[in-house]
Formats: sequence, C-alpha cells, structure tokens
Amino acid sequence: MCGIIAGISGEEIAPMLIEGLRRVEYRGYDSAGIATIHDGELEVRKEVGRIKDLERRYSASEMKGHTGMGHTRWATHGGVTQANAHPHMSCGDLVAVIHNGIIENYLDLRESLQKEGHTFRSETDTEVIPHLIEVEYLKSKDPLQATLSAVKKLKGQYAIVVMFRDHPEIITGARNDAPLVIGVGEKEMFLASDVLAFISRTDRAVFLDNMEVVAITVRGYKVYTMSGIEVEKKPTQLAWELSDLSKLDYAHYTLKEIHEQPETIQRAMHQDPNRLEPFIRALKGAKSVLLTASGSSYHAAVLLRDRLNREAKIRCDARLAGEFEDQAHFVEKGTVVIAFSQSGETADLLHAIKVARARGGTVISVVNAAGSSVARESDEVLLLNCGPEVGVAATKSFTAQVMVGNVIADAMIGKDTIGEPEMIGRLVEETLKSEDTVREIAKAFSDRPDFYFIARGHHYPIALEGALKLKELSYVHAEGMPASELKHGTLALIEKGTPVVVIAPSGEGFTSTISNALELQARGAEIIGISDNEHPVFRYRVAIPSSNESVAPILEAIPLQLLAYFMATERKNDPDYPRNLAKSVTVK
Ligand code: GLU
Repeated sequence: MCGIIAGISGEEIAPMLIEGLRRVEYRGYDSAGIATIHDGELEVRKEVGRIKDLERRYSASEMKGHTGMGHTRWATHGGVTQANAHPHMSCGDLVAVIHNGIIENYLDLRESLQKEGHTFRSETDTEVIPHLIEVEYLKSKDPLQATLSAVKKLKGQYAIVVMFRDHPEIITGARNDAPLVIGVGEKEMFLASDVLAFISRTDRAVFLDNMEVVAITVRGYKVYTMSGIEVEKKPTQLAWELSDLSKLDYAHYTLKEIHEQPETIQRAMHQDPNRLEPFIRALKGAKSVLLTASGSSYHAAVLLRDRLNREAKIRCDARLAGEFEDQAHFVEKGTVVIAFSQSGETADLLHAIKVARARGGTVISVVNAAGSSVARESDEVLLLNCGPEVGVAATKSFTAQVMVGNVIADAMIGKDTIGEPEMIGRLVEETLKSEDTVREIAKAFSDRPDFYFIARGHHYPIALEGALKLKELSYVHAEGMPASELKHGTLALIEKGTPVVVIAPSGEGFTSTISNALELQARGAEIIGISDNEHPVFRYRVAIPSSNESVAPILEAIPLQLLAYFMATERKNDPDYPRNLAKSVTVK
C-alpha cells in the first residue's frame, strides 16, 4: 500500500523524489526512504515517520544524483523501524529495491538465500528481492535480464522498482497485483505507484498490466512480459490538474475536499453518454445484479442497491469485496457485478473481480482513477470525476459515488438527472453552512468514548458512513445501525451523556425515527439530529435543506464528514493521515 516514485533525469533527482513522495504519502506513511546513485555508489537514506521527518534529517540538496527512487511505507512484514524502511539493498550493495505489496514465499526464499551465505539486514518480506536480483545480476551483468529472472521466483503481490549501483542509466520495475505507472517526460522518465507522484513533471503516463516488467532510461521506456517479450505500450494523456493538489487556504486536505463537494457532485452527475449508455445496457441485460466494494465505497454501493430494489424493482444484493469469494457463489453467466472503488487499486476488490469473472459474471465498475487496475479489468466503467482525493478518509469521492449511483438508478427507471445539477450544487453549499454548528458539537462531545449513529431505510448507509468516518479520523469508537435495530441489543450500552447521531429527514420514517430518539433520550442519551425538521428531542440539530430521497443521503453525509474532521482536530489528530490507515488498500 506504499507510495513509490523513481526517476532518471538530466536534473538532480532528490527534490523530485521528495515532492513525489509528498503527493503519494496518503498511500502509507509509517516510514520513508530514498536512494540515489552518486559517484558510483548507491546512497540510501531512510527514516521512521513521515516524509517531513526524512527531510528534516537529510536535506534534498545533500542527496546528489540523477537516478533515484523513494518509498513511503505501510508496514506489513516487520515493525516500523529504520532497518525495515525501504529501499533495501543486496549484500554486495549492488542492487537497491523498493516494493509495494507482500511476497508470500519470502520465508522459503530467505531461508535458501541464507543457506547460500546471504546476510539480511531487515525483517521484511521485501529484502529477498535485492538478494535474488543480485544473484542473477552477477551471472548476466544485465539489469533487465537480472530483473526478469528474479521476479519469476516471486509469489504474491508486488510492484517493485530496482536500481543497480553500476548502471545509473537504467531503472527496472515489475508488477503483479499492485499498481505501477510509467511517467513519460521530456528527457526524463519516472516509475510510480500513482500518477500523482510525477504529475508536476509530466502528464503522460503508461499504465503497466499485471506480470509486466519495465526498464526506463532518460530517453524512453520498454515494457516486457515476464518471459522477456517486448510489449508495445503507448502513453495516455492525464486529465487531472495540478492545481487540485494544493491545500489552498484550508488547514487540511480533508477540509478542502469536503468543501469541493458542491462542484464534485455536479461533475459526478455529468456522465459521458459514451460510457453511460453501454453501462446501462449491460445492467439492463443482466440476469442478476450484485454490487461489491469495501469501506465507504461499500456504503455507496448499498445505497445504489436499495434504489435499484426499490425503484427499478431489480432483485440485487451487495457484498463486501473482502467477503465476495465466500459469499457470492450464486454469480454465474448473466450476473452483472458492479464494483465501486475510489482508487481502483483495492486488492480485495481486484480479487472479487477475478472471482466474479471466474464464475462467469460480467464486471462493470465505478471508479475515480481512470487508468486504474479496476477500470482496466472491467467491461464498462463510469468515472467519479471528482479529481484526486488526498485525505485518507473518503469524503468527496463518497458523495460522488452516491451521485453516480443516482445517475445509474435514474437511467434504469428512465428519469432524467441531468436537469438538476445546479440545484444540487446549491443544496450542498447550503448544507456546508452547518460547519460552525458541527464544530460546536465536536467541541462539546470530543471527550466521549462512544458514539452511535442511527437512521432508517435508505438513510441507514449514511449512519454506517458517519460511524466509519468518526472512527477513521477521531479514533473514537462508533457504531452505525438501523434505528429499529438499536432496541434489540445495543440500547444496553446507552448511558447518561452517550451521544447518538439521529439522521431523521422529514417524510416517511421521521416519526418512527423520532420515537427511537425519544427512547434513547429517556435512557440518558444526548441526541444530535441531522434533519431538515425541528424536534424537541434534538439537544443539537444540524440543519440540512429539504430535498428528495436520492439527494438527501448526500446532504446527510456532509455534516458527518465535518463532525469526524472537527472531532479529529479537537482531539489533536491529523485528519489527513489517520494512524494505521492508508488510502488505497492494495494488500488483501
Ligand atoms: N511488505 C513490505 C514491507 O512490509 C512492503 C509494504 C508496503 O507496501 O509499504 O515492508
């Protein structure tokens, strides 16, 4: 789940690596490291902590060289220590490697390498790779050949980038089930886990496919299959604007991205008809429909499932991507699986897609990253169009997913959504005016250890999303559940002063949700209402504008994003980089 950036340039490479790492730091941030080739030596600097800690210790100006690579780690094997941070070196210091993913057969490989006399300096699975490559390099003295021979021995998920002390003119790489992209610049080339890492230098990219090996030089790139056959690949033009990547005047990316929603939701509504029509055709031709996703994307998928059930009368279900293999045995020829993902690189989802295909299903997807693995593995793709999301917790990508879900549901029932974007933009702007009230609520409740979120019907996924956001950003225990379900057990946990967020829009369900709120209040709970309607049971009310059934969940989600954000800042957490998490979860 780490961030990778490597490059060869006519200019000093270290400042580009640091800038690239900062842009992909959301992918993992427990430790970071850089290697450059300078004066015939591979120079490695690594540090526990964030990129700023690495920079504090070593300034970019003292890391010389035109060939280099950098890594920001999300530890899977071995603790968060300087020795376990990447890059890792071979015994003879000839080869340096950074890696994203997990080498499943590393124990066997490590044991046999140790028997051959190799000494290991870390506890990581990664370290077997530089040793293996060095063994091969000493035979052939050819960086590409050595990479090709060594990767054949690896089992598991990986994107790797390799530098050779005696070959500053070349960087090699390989991928299997983890993203790796080539950045094609003017007399400079990059390899990265994410286009954001090099987008300030070039907007032309080549997306590698699984089981491909790559070699870059300052002039160009070559891509090969694992058996060494060259594959022709052309660069694609990236559309994302660099300006989207600054924090502007906001204290955090998360807050900036929450405030971008009046525009991003409208952009999500404008679906390209060339993509939408075949997507809807596939869905209309389905014998059965199954939605799959993880985390916040799953909540958006559940909302679409409910709309397809309720309005289009389509019998369909939703499954968590990580449970798909065990729970989706009924997928067969004619089943259409809709996969939701912001990054398009979620390992659980990619596995679900593989399983769906193996069982005969068709896969169509909704993603933010157009060139991502999920997009490339799908028959049809709709894009969120919400621009890069840097904050680790999904905010604008979640509401964009809900909106794309609305476009899909509307198309299935023959309703025109396209007439409404400006009206929705205004409703979202009005909802954002609740910021001061939400800040006050966060101040009042920031010391509480538990939060509950309840809602009914198609508002229930927003209770799940509100609880997830709060856990992610504030580290406070939270549970979301149907309002009707609370009395079947969880009510036992309510004590004097327990905050319960009640999502209670006016209309069908309002009275019964309020009855549940009154039951809670009678047991000491303090009720925070998210509603377009007043009621005395609300100790605090976050006012949202009245809307319709499909837009209301979007408006309800926004104050809950703000609540999580302000709870985090009240509790002195960094909302952009919550502990233990990474944005695109590329390991199973
Ligand atoms: N498995 C490797 C490690 O624990 C790579 C983790 C990552 O993707 O950051 O060091």
